[in-house]
Amino acid sequence: SPRVGVLALQGDVREHAALLTRLGAQVELVRRPEELAAVNGLVIPGGESTVIDKLSRTFGMQEPIRDAIAAGLPVLGTCAGLIMLADTVVDAIEGQQSFGGLDAVVRRNAFGRQVESFEAQLDVAAFGAPPVSAAFIRGPVVESIGPRATPLAALPDGRVVAVEQGALLGLSFHPEISGETRFHERFLARVEGGHSVAAA
Ligand code: GLN
Repeated sequence: SPRVGVLALQGDVREHAALLTRLGAQVELVRRPEELAAVNGLVIPGGESTVIDKLSRTFGMQEPIRDAIAAGLPVLGTCAGLIMLADTVVDAIEGQQSFGGLDAVVRRNAFGRQVESFEAQLDVAAFGAPPVSAAFIRGPVVESIGPRATPLAALPDGRVVAVEQGALLGLSFHPEISGETRFHERFLARVEGGHSVAAA
């Protein structure tokens, strides 16, 4: 079974770990470079990107994660995780950094405050029926993408909320809390397809 990590610095780590375990993956919590080196894919959870950024630098994880992304490690980022994957973050706090890798401009807190959280049904062509039920919790929006990235899902008003680029998959919402499994299955398929650091 694929051996995947969940970046466990802050955020909804347990929800991702539970879903991945249910899908048959061997899940490791990743906090240190040697733990990152031992997995063939990484999930960056939802939470607070400013905190994940700070802690990743404190723990010496920023550079190893950047290197792994550049080497082709499959990464699924949800919400704050999408922010961490974006090459450019709009409405970042002063000094905030992302790992980058995803050729996209992502705006933090694009849908307003926590109380304005909502659920939406998204048609995702790559999945077909049924639509994805997506939970937006103070999520980001993908404002624009470069030529290397592809939109996977958009809201009815056209705003992009899921984007893919090679082994990278970034979502504005939280499939791990709405019972949606198809994005994690897509991620695990990438992992099993052999996008390992060594092979890239
Ligand atoms: N607002 C958060 C951030 O900027 C993201 C919210 C979430 O992950 N649910 O990181």
